[in-house]
Amino acid sequence: MASTVEHARQRVRSTGARVTGARVRVLAVLMQADEALAHTEVQRRLEQGEHHEVLDRVTLYRVLDWLVEAGLAHRVAGPDRAWRYSAQGSAPAGPVRHGHFRCRHCERVVCMDAPPGLEGSLQDMLPEGFRSDAFELTLLGQCAACAAGSGTVDARAGAHLVESRD
Ligand SMILES: [Zn+2]
Ligand SMILES: [Zn+2]
Repeated sequence: MASTVEHARQRVRSTGARVTGARVRVLAVLMQADEALAHTEVQRRLEQGEHHEVLDRVTLYRVLDWLVEAGLAHRVAGPDRAWRYSAQGSAPAGPVRHGHFRCRHCERVVCMDAPPGLEGSLQDMLPEGFRSDAFELTLLGQCAACAAGSGTVDARAGAHLVESRD
């Protein structure tokens, strides 16, 4: 965790903005996650982390919005229309160039790297004269745990099922 926090601190500092403990620790939580997290899940992980940090909802939203604006994270809508946040594949000052997978069963949202050439294929779909500079792509289905029939008993997936409800 310590090195992730240090890495997060460097990323926040690289924006030239004020480095606050909340920004650093929220980013560190996102960097350690292997899926996009709802704010309730971010809150839970902060509270269970080594600092047992409790951030109120308003502060957390402000920090998450700042991370998105700064290009250190991106958000994607979950099935319940609540935002999920991820630090994966986020490049400062650039659109997100990857897709997402949303499990219909446990509602996890996972970032996926776009294969080379995908963006070109999508550009080929554009009508004459249209220009695109970003894409949003979401595949729906079952995640590996749910496809294996263990989605509801898997502790982590189960936690997301509960935590993603606001
Ligand atoms: Zn699932
Ligand atoms: Zn993503």
